[in-house]
Amino acid sequence: MSREIILRAKSMVASVTPLPSDCGKLCGARCCTGDGLGMELLPGETEACGMSGFGSVENGIFVCRGSCDRKQRPYACMIFPMVPLVFEENGRLRIEAANDLRAVPVCPIAKAKLLPSFAAAVRRSAAVLCESAALREYLSEKTEEYLEIKQLSNLLN
Ligand code: SF4
Ligand code: SF4
Repeated sequence: MSREIILRAKSMVASVTPLPSDCGKLCGARCCTGDGLGMELLPGETEACGMSGFGSVENGIFVCRGSCDRKQRPYACMIFPMVPLVFEENGRLRIEAANDLRAVPVCPIAKAKLLPSFAAAVRRSAAVLCESAALREYLSEKTEEYLEIKQLSNLLN
């Protein structure tokens, strides 16, 4: 069940881009340098997708070697530099797509207005992930973490 959901969600963001042009040409693809920092995987993503050909998994983090099969890359890479925010209000889900503040040190467009079609695809893919209770809980926890970081960042700036 989660496998089908993860594959469906990833198919919705596999080909979208944050800008109309190839942003990798602007910055020399700084997010894909194979620096060993890695990208966090969704729970169950390793089992759902074969990614062993271009990296390794350590404690839920995928560490690549600086190149990949774009269709197989982690969900977090597909939606970078955005994150989905999931709120449960009065039994209803509200999903937003936000620029990821944690991307700012790496990504020159992390604070930019990104393509609405990209943000919409991030939101729609997150809605698919939320069909799984476990993934919905995971995204809600990540949303809380994100909001705490944002609050801290606002206090410091
Ligand atoms: S670091 Fe940002 S601008 Fe550069 S390739 Fe990655 S997403 Fe695009
Ligand atoms: S897996 Fe691919 S998209 Fe993700 S950081 Fe590595 S090279 Fe970049």
